Amino acid sequence: MRDMTIKVAINGYGTIGKRVADAVSCQDDMEIIGVTKTRPSFGCDLAVRKGYPLYCTFDDADKISAFGEAGYDCKGGLKDLMAAADIVIDCSPGKLGAENKQKYQDAGVKWIFQGGEKHAMTGLSYTSCANHMQNMNAEGTRVVSCNTTGLSRTLVPLYEACGSLSVECTMIRRAADPGDSKKGPINAIKPVLKVPSHHGPDVMTVKPEININSLAVAVPTTIMHVHSIVATLPDGHGMTTESIIEMWKNQPRVIVMNGNETGITTTAEVMEFARDIGRTWGDLHEIFVWEDGVKLVDNNLYYFQAIHQESDVIPENIDAIRALMGTESDWKASVAKTDAAISALFD
Ligand code: NAD
Repeated sequence: MRDMTIKVAINGYGTIGKRVADAVSCQDDMEIIGVTKTRPSFGCDLAVRKGYPLYCTFDDADKISAFGEAGYDCKGGLKDLMAAADIVIDCSPGKLGAENKQKYQDAGVKWIFQGGEKHAMTGLSYTSCANHMQNMNAEGTRVVSCNTTGLSRTLVPLYEACGSLSVECTMIRRAADPGDSKKGPINAIKPVLKVPSHHGPDVMTVKPEININSLAVAVPTTIMHVHSIVATLPDGHGMTTESIIEMWKNQPRVIVMNGNETGITTTAEVMEFARDIGRTWGDLHEIFVWEDGVKLVDNNLYYFQAIHQESDVIPENIDAIRALMGTESDWKASVAKTDAAISALFD
């Protein structure tokens, strides 16, 4: 009888790849069969410590042997890893997708890309609350970016409650990830001079019914993004500020807290709260909405939310695996299973 555990490979063991690997390995229906690094570097030590078989991103003999020369047990190249995998999670830096996709297709494995790739390259995108069913049994998909995931978590239930939605928002973006020394700005506020920015419209790749535009600006912080959102509800929507807050409180992967009552008034305290939860790297998979920053005025809903850029997409990758492998069609059931397994690690 075939082993029903889904065999998952990670191509690109960086910021996102190492997190997805841990999230996969704590689920009872899937396992990590290998992770790749481009060359022997400090990230290899983490893979070894976690017990993940280490492979080279490339198939060139000299690149593979460089790992052995540096003292790592490298099991082979990408082709060797693909031969044993059911699905590969591509966590390479953005825009390498087209080349990698061909390799996955040649090997006959399913594939998931991340938000740094364009929807046009994959032809399908994924967010659990928006379009899990559309991804069932597909060959491959793209888990949308951290910003698009965050927008979807609050906008999709709002759309479903009122039947139409028009949104203007501004992404106040972290300049770089904490482990990244190459990006900036470090003493400036940098508007994205492509208007509208791609972030808002990207929501329409998973929920085309939401009419949305965005602006973006990068600020000198590394820990979170903040979204400033104005959503226009249709006439006769029947919602109140309180009913919207209640709806979000019942939405998976959304945390709603009162800033003034809790003292969590900035992203610094949100991240401290996340570190107190105790997940690895101080991750916060949930979107954080300030309850006292939500207000419905006539048909316009104003609110702020904060996004932990390195981690909100991590559980989405797990649910996308189940959709592509066709093992769970109910998105809420998948989300509950994913989150329970991750939470059990930190009880
Ligand atoms: P990263 O630079 O931290 O990690 C990328 C890893 O891929 C590195 O280990 C790198 O060595 C490796 N790599 C390089 N070339 C490769 C290749 N040809 N094939 C496979 N692997 C290769 O990047 P990241 O932040 O983890 O981003 C990965 C993807 O996730 C990108 O699409 C990015 O846009 C997206 N994403 C990033 C964040 C974030 O905040 N970091 C959030 C959401 C989505």
